[in-house]
Order: sequence, then C-alpha cells, then structure tokens
Amino acid sequence: MAFDYDLFVIGGGSGGVRAARIAAAEGGARVGLAEESRMGGTCVIRGCVPKKLMVFASSFPEAVAEARAYGWDAGIGAFDWPQFRTRLETELDRLEAAYRATLKSAGVTTHDARAVVEDAHRVRLATGETFSAKHILIATGGRPFVPDIPGRELAVTSNEMFHLPALPKRALVVGGGYIASEFACILNGLGATVCQYYRGAQILRGFDEEARGLVATAMQQNGISIHCGTDILRLEKTAGGISAVATDGTEQEFDLVMYATGRHPNTENLGLEALGVQIGRRGQILVDEWSQTAVPSIYAVGDVTDRVNLTPVAIREGHAFADTVFGGKPTRFDHDLIASAVFTQPELGSVGLSEEAAREQEPIEVYATAFRPMKTAFAGHSNRVLMKLIVSQKTRRILGCHIVAPEAGEMIQLAGIAIRMGATKEDFDRTCAVHPTMAEELVTLRKPLRTA
Ligand code: NDP
Repeated sequence: MAFDYDLFVIGGGSGGVRAARIAAAEGGARVGLAEESRMGGTCVIRGCVPKKLMVFASSFPEAVAEARAYGWDAGIGAFDWPQFRTRLETELDRLEAAYRATLKSAGVTTHDARAVVEDAHRVRLATGETFSAKHILIATGGRPFVPDIPGRELAVTSNEMFHLPALPKRALVVGGGYIASEFACILNGLGATVCQYYRGAQILRGFDEEARGLVATAMQQNGISIHCGTDILRLEKTAGGISAVATDGTEQEFDLVMYATGRHPNTENLGLEALGVQIGRRGQILVDEWSQTAVPSIYAVGDVTDRVNLTPVAIREGHAFADTVFGGKPTRFDHDLIASAVFTQPELGSVGLSEEAAREQEPIEVYATAFRPMKTAFAGHSNRVLMKLIVSQKTRRILGCHIVAPEAGEMIQLAGIAIRMGATKEDFDRTCAVHPTMAEELVTLRKPLRTA
C-alpha cells in the first residue's frame, strides 16, 4: 500500500522536530509534521529558552551589588519589563523561524494545524485534510496543570509568565518543583516580593537532601519567603489584587499568583485509546524501550510519555526513534545518569543518585564540602556552595554528583561525562585541579564525610 508519508509527526517541539529532521535528512523518509501552536514547542516558546533569558535578566541587580563591593561606582536603575518582553518575543520569533528553516531544508512538510490519529496509519488535521503514513510519531508534549481549587482561574502558569502585561510587586508561587523554584528566584531577582508555598516538607523533592536544603536556605537568604507544609485552599479577587487563603489559616494579598504544580501529558482527544494505544495513570502514553506503543505503527517520544521530562531527553528519544526506524541503526536511549540543572539562584546541578537513594541501593561513602566561594566571599556575602560526591564502597564508582553553586549547570555537564564513563573516586583524585575555581573541590575531596 502506498502511503502519503513514511512518517507523520504530531507535535513540533524538541522531540518531534529532531525525529522528523533525522528521518527525512538522514533516513530519506518522506515526512509530514503537524503543529497546532508555534514551532519549537515548550522548550523554545514557553519553557527553557525564555526562562533562561529571564534568569539572566533577573541576575543583574546582584551582579551590580557585587560590582560595588569590588570598587565600582555602580548602580542599577529600573527594569524595563516591556522592553525586555519585546526583545524576548523577537528572539522567540527568530528561533521559531530557525526551526521552520531546519525542517524545510531537511525536506519535512509542515502543517500548521492540530492533528489527531484516525487509525493506525492515518491522521486527520483540523483543516479536514487526512494523510496516511507508514509510521506515526506522537510528540505532543505536556501542559501545566492547576489543581481544582476555588479561584483557580485567577492563577497563571509558566505559559503566561513571558507575556505578563506588567511585573507584579507581590507574587505568590505555588509548588516546589523545578518550575516553581526557578520562577520564585526570577521574580525575586526582578524586584518582586515573593512567597513560595509548597505542600511538602522541603522544595525540590527527589534531589539530594543536602543540596535542596542549601538551595532553599540561599533562596530564603535572598529574600524569598518559602512556606513548606502548607498549600493554598482558595483564591479570591479583591480590590487590590488576589487574596490567597492557605491551609495554615493565613490570608495574604498578591498581584500575581503563579501555579507550577506539575505538568500533564497532552494525550486527550488525540484518538489514541480507541486504537489500542495504552495510556498510563498520569495520562502518559506507555511505550517500550524503542518508544513504540502497543500499536506497532505508532511511536511516542518526549514529555507525552512522561519518562524523564527534559528537552535533551526528548531530543535523544526522537533521534533514537529515527535511527531505529529509518536509519537502519536500532538505538535505545538509556535514561540512566542524565545530568540536569535547576536554574535557581544559586543553581543546582545534579547527576546520578542522591545520597538518600544511593544509601538504599548499596554501601556508600559521601564526600562533600560546603564553602564560601572566592568571588562572593570577597564581596562580603555569606552564601556557600556545595560540592558533593556519592561513591560506591564496592566498585569505587561515583554514583552521584550534586553541585549547588553559580553556574552549577555548566559544571554538572562536564562532571556528567566522567560519571557516565564510569569514573571512580580515584579517577577524580588523579585529576589535577584547575585553580582557583569552585569545581576544583570535586577533585580534592580527600576524606569521606560519612559512610552509610
Ligand atoms: P514538578 O513535578 O517538578 O513539580 C510539581 C510541584 O507541584 C511539586 O512540588 C508537587 O508537590 C506540587 N504539586 C503537584 N500537585 C499539586 C497539587 N495538587 N497541589 C499542590 N501542589 C502540587 O513539576 P514542574 O511543573 O515544576 O516541572 C515539570 C517538569 O518540567 C519537571 O518534571 C522537569 O522535568 C521539567 N523542567 C525542567 C527544568 C530544568 O531542567 N531546569 C525546568 C523546568 C521544568 P509534591 O512534590 O508533593 O508532589
């Protein structure tokens, strides 16, 4: 049977675009791709990229304060949010155009419309057109979820944060994950008074406890008021803003309430379940190690599968799919030892197991040091950075590395290579330090702090 396409991709985000490009350019496949919103997806349009630019914008007051401590006659004026927002929009337009150009030069046909799956080999666009395809790839990502509380319509999510008409003076951030913690820091850096409410005992659940504790302490020292063990019961519109009533009985007024209470996979109304594609409890598409669903011609990659919800993971999953199905190179993406960073201030970079998880697995040694880094210590700050290694007593391999420091994201990328290669503590010890840096402490940790 002749198909219109060899591959039809639904979703023009990181995973879908990579898969489409590799299948077309390297696999010689005839590829169609449908995107209902802007090309580039969450990461480029309403996630990592604009977020990181806002992190940069928010870091200047602190940089100027440090400059003063170093002897500069420096001062910072007001932040012009509309000017920044306009530049941001221009940058996102540029990136979207680059994504489109990449797809075009790879020979991918793009359709600016929502697509649903009609059967195992057919998709239907919102325009009414239908296309047949030998393979279908679902890469529809996820979307922010706001719990069902009274007044939830008064809250914004990360989607809206890049388009705010004005910056808030008083902001409430709800949630304790990556997005909540990053935006609490961004808003704080941009001059808002920030409260963060998290229902659990400590923000950044799942990360190494010592590391998340240090991030939380630093955030509080920077002026963010973190309320753990409390949640928001309801939101109400008031004359002056939005009033938030918390489970601890307190009521406070804010100009902006942002919910970052997780994301849900975009699987609804795609026509999947009727076809036999299995959907998990969290709404995610269930796939095997080849990203194949229970319907052999349908695959899924990225956040819609809710494996490890990170852009580079979606890209690798998309690439592995294209190599496997169109490149004659069966490739499984290994989800172990993925380094990641939380762009709080300070950043948290992490790869491998937390001390708590490693302890459950096998006997370990913990090496760690927390110290005042040269640059900010000179400026009179008391903030500390953390360098921590979790080592297997048996194999001597580094099981986990956790860094809380400015630029920890950059550092953990490099540590991640060594750890991925199976580096032992002794390999780290044999590595000569780069002096004077913060990261040199990773190769000069002599005695275990504790064993467990
Ligand atoms: P997370 O799953 O990381 O965090 C969600 C937070 O919301 C948790 O603190 C959770 O609490 C809380 N929560 C969940 N449901 C409720 C509820 N009903 N009421 C109150 N609180 C609730 O999600 P994010 O939205 O922060 O991020 C989504 C994903 O995006 C992440 O998993 C991450 O992989 C990715 N991401 C990565 C970034 C990076 O690499 N720097 C940046 C941003 C996002 P609890 O802990 O108790 O469950």
